[in-house]
Amino acid sequence: MESALYIVSTPIGNLKDITLRALEILRDVDFVACEDTRVTAFLLTHYEIKKELISLNAVNENKKIDYIINRISQGESCALCSDAGTPGISDPGVRLISAAVKNGNAVVPIPGVTAAITALSASGLPTDSFLYEGFIPQKKGRQKKLKELSGIDRTIILYESTYRIEKLLQELNEYMPKRFTVVGRELTKKFEEFWRGYPEDLLAQLNTKTTKGEFVVIIAPISWQKHV
Ligand code: SAM
Repeated sequence: MESALYIVSTPIGNLKDITLRALEILRDVDFVACEDTRVTAFLLTHYEIKKELISLNAVNENKKIDYIINRISQGESCALCSDAGTPGISDPGVRLISAAVKNGNAVVPIPGVTAAITALSASGLPTDSFLYEGFIPQKKGRQKKLKELSGIDRTIILYESTYRIEKLLQELNEYMPKRFTVVGRELTKKFEEFWRGYPEDLLAQLNTKTTKGEFVVIIAPISWQKHV
């Protein structure tokens, strides 16, 4: 196979959501750089793939870049994976990819799942123009960001964790109460569900729901009229 850095998307829950090409690449590369070696080992074991795994996460990314780039430059091939979805999308990997591009190494995308697009595809909200914002700041700058987003007349996609989903819905009720919102929870997993409504409705529904799990929050454009 061509010596390159392969950017390999992996499932966000359902292990079947991996492409045939991704499996072929994971079988053929010399080594895999991944966020948490235990998570990627679990995926590879499921598909009976044995491979050298090198950890590459937000903390050690800078230290590992030269080592990985050197190996690729000497003719080896490397697959980059994150714990879930597409590497670099609210995940580590961007610095390694930039370094490979700068160094003239081939960088090959092996496309697959991203939680944002998975949620958007079933949201029923406009998809012609959207803003992927990912995680908004946890503390400093959070209110400023919410205010800024409230003025943007496009579909907005946010990521949120189990710890702050209720807080985020309260903030949306404060900053964007008139914007219809869709929450995708535990997508592709056993307890996948979509919550739909204005922030106030979603907060009311929380009494009967669990806020455990992973969430994508999609906010309709200001000018969008609910038609369902
Ligand atoms: N690289 C990933 C991607 O391509 O979507 C994103 C990784 S980011 C660290 C993790 C966040 O993505 C979660 O906190 C959640 O907001 C979202 N996410 C990941 N998997 C999800 C799922 N199965 N259902 C809903 N949201 C998910």
